[in-house]
Amino acid sequence: MRNKRIYLDYAATTPVDKEVFKEMKPYFSEKFGNAMSIHSFGQVALAAVDKARERAAKFFGTTPYEIIFTSGATESNNLAIKGVVKSYYSQFSTKYESGTNIRITNKNFVKPHIITTAFEHHCVLHACKSVEKEGLAEVTYLRPGKDGLIKTAEIKRHIRSNTILVSVMYVNNEIGTVQPIKEISKLIKLTNDQRPTANHRIVFHTDATQAINYFDCDVNKLGVDMLSMSAHKIYGPKGVGLLYIRKGTPVKQIKYGGDQEYKMRAGTHNVPGIVGLGKAIEQVRSSKFKVQNKKILELRDYLIKRVLKEIPKSKLNGSKIKRSPNNANFSFKNIEGEGLILSMDMEGIACSTGSACSSGALTPSHVLLSIGLKPEDAHGSLRMTLGKYTTKKDIDTAVDKLKEVITRLRKISGHVLKDYYNTR
Ligand code: PMP
Repeated sequence: MRNKRIYLDYAATTPVDKEVFKEMKPYFSEKFGNAMSIHSFGQVALAAVDKARERAAKFFGTTPYEIIFTSGATESNNLAIKGVVKSYYSQFSTKYESGTNIRITNKNFVKPHIITTAFEHHCVLHACKSVEKEGLAEVTYLRPGKDGLIKTAEIKRHIRSNTILVSVMYVNNEIGTVQPIKEISKLIKLTNDQRPTANHRIVFHTDATQAINYFDCDVNKLGVDMLSMSAHKIYGPKGVGLLYIRKGTPVKQIKYGGDQEYKMRAGTHNVPGIVGLGKAIEQVRSSKFKVQNKKILELRDYLIKRVLKEIPKSKLNGSKIKRSPNNANFSFKNIEGEGLILSMDMEGIACSTGSACSSGALTPSHVLLSIGLKPEDAHGSLRMTLGKYTTKKDIDTAVDKLKEVITRLRKISGHVLKDYYNTR
């Protein structure tokens, strides 16, 4: 009989929590109304959406009308980036249409500038590339240090008079490193205070998708203007997320249709999904969750210790200290990531190489390249991310199997290391 499968890919997605599912269930069937309908069916749905909005607002330390529900972090990030660019253009009485030529006669016009990082999730990077390609903005992609951390001083060095947006992720999805969001927001506030006109102020956005479970996400403490997240990373459903937009932030809608979400995001509400997001985010604040996180951190440290000690030519990618409690990302010499993942899967252990979204493509991870890994080392990487259902037994089994698999793969690839026993 096959042993229980072990899931170590919580950064890719999490299972929906039982309590979350229980709250969602009625909104698929008996409470099926459209939250925009004025009859009682609609009102029941709207009340549920409002409750979720209040729960989210409480979590982020903000007001409900600053929460915009979306289909997930991908959409939130696109709205944040494209919406700010669009808002900038709207002040120059010009015809802005994405993908068409823009004629601006206003002599005060300067092409706007965006600062982001080279190791953002692809939805941020590709949204930035698209505005760059359409000629709408210049973009600087800052490289993190070898430790996977962005330096605030680097951001300062790259701010220009035409910078309108800085977007830096809170926690990196591949290597789990935690960025100095509070420090960056202080810099941006200082810069904005020194700007003579309000129409050039810098908006600060963070993709907090991987941070919600583990870090303080109070938007006022963080000092961010916009924040993105997805429910499926926090034991909620897939296909729903939100964008926090601080009141007064210059951002325009990018999707047209109905008047939902304060006219910032058109489209019928995903009522069960939104209900699930609300319940999931409420649970993150519970004392039970804090206890789980402590256990996750201990297990993660145990995992790292065992791997580095017991597997020759292994290395942890990214800072050991400024790191998400659930993330371990290793590189193994003379190993090919895809082969490693498939072999581990055959042993009943699910982990990932690169981000879930980029696995399947044979290009090395842009995140690992950005922190200075050689392509061959980036190829030989393994991400193991823990969650609330991970046990010590899971970790022990995973490490035992990993040792076996790596020894086997190294033998197959003819890379039996002569100094196998002398490396550590
Ligand atoms: N940003 C980060 C940091 C992520 O980890 C992910 C999911 N891998 C996303 C954005 C995109 O989220 P979604 O696919 O739910 O839209």
